Amino acid sequence: MADTEFSVFAKALATKYKNDKKPAEFTRTLFEKIYLGDVSFIQLMDDRRLRAYYYGQNDITELAQTIADDLDDKGFADYIETPSEDTIRYLCETFRPWCPDIDKDNYAQRVAGRFIAIINKAASPKAKKKPRVKVESQLTLFDPTPKDKYGVLLVAEAGSTCHGEGCPNQLYLRENGRLEFCYDVVVIDPAQSDEDTENLIAMCPSCTAKYRARGSQSIEYLQEMKRQLLDSYDDRDVSSSETVQDGVRRVLQKIPTVKPPQGVDLNYDPVPLRNKIREENVELYIRTKNHVNVYYSDVHETFQELGKEGLLRFKPFCAQVRMLYLSYADMGYDQPRIYREMTRWLHTATNEDWDYCQIVISYFIQKCEVFDVIAE
Ligand SMILES: [Zn+2]
Repeated sequence: MADTEFSVFAKALATKYKNDKKPAEFTRTLFEKIYLGDVSFIQLMDDRRLRAYYYGQNDITELAQTIADDLDDKGFADYIETPSEDTIRYLCETFRPWCPDIDKDNYAQRVAGRFIAIINKAASPKAKKKPRVKVESQLTLFDPTPKDKYGVLLVAEAGSTCHGEGCPNQLYLRENGRLEFCYDVVVIDPAQSDEDTENLIAMCPSCTAKYRARGSQSIEYLQEMKRQLLDSYDDRDVSSSETVQDGVRRVLQKIPTVKPPQGVDLNYDPVPLRNKIREENVELYIRTKNHVNVYYSDVHETFQELGKEGLLRFKPFCAQVRMLYLSYADMGYDQPRIYREMTRWLHTATNEDWDYCQIVISYFIQKCEVFDVIAE
């Protein structure tokens, strides 16, 4: 998922200031504190939109343009002000890349200044793109398309299924026993923003081509589809966001004390390029992918927090997960069974909920590229 300057900023502060708030609520607080005007419209803002800001799914441009002329650096600095030396040290370290002179006396003003800079930049009209002179041997830079930015999220939202009218297609293909995503991202209403994920939908290439050619004819149909997708995706999210993050956090916190399962040789030398994701495992693959897509932010964010606090290191654990996978593969287990065994291992070791352990294992399988590593 792409990060925006705001999402980086908000997540950095979340480590110390979010407490029990949900991402949407925390984001609302940040904007209430920085805005000098009447905050009632911020209080009424849709949770979904605020959450999209927090996760970097949407830019804050529109909101920034509304509030940019009336920002309260003093009020925000008061909000940041803290007696905790630990938090002050954290802020100084985290914000130093943007505020080289940040220290324990000016940290609150610098953090407020950073927030104001982000809002002003987001509110200013986008700079005209300079024509790019092509120089050989120089990398050509491409602007990321909506597909680059939001594709994975949109496929997860669509349940990996095309929602074109009467279309039975999946958004992935099997090729030589290997799964590849196969889709494009459509701007539902071309008159509206292509940066707003609510105006984007993932469809199969054939429906994408038809939709673009027919123009506006089925806008209403896709809008209705999108509404249904958002509703069901949101239901999942409501039950997930807070509890999942708490559960995942508990699991991750226990990882440093987790011992590898017995009978597994962790010094096993991974022979590269083993077997690919097998066709019969398509269900597992899609489930793991979707799992990760839905909960990725939660796990990722928790992981970063624990990393910053020095509680957990990503690489060693990732290596362990990979070894574990290869060892089980070597025992001749099929992938669904390996997935089950790994979840069982974490479940037994942490004594935490099976579902949360499954989410964590899915995350690591994807993040450590376990399935891909064993490709051919
Ligand atoms: Zn289709």
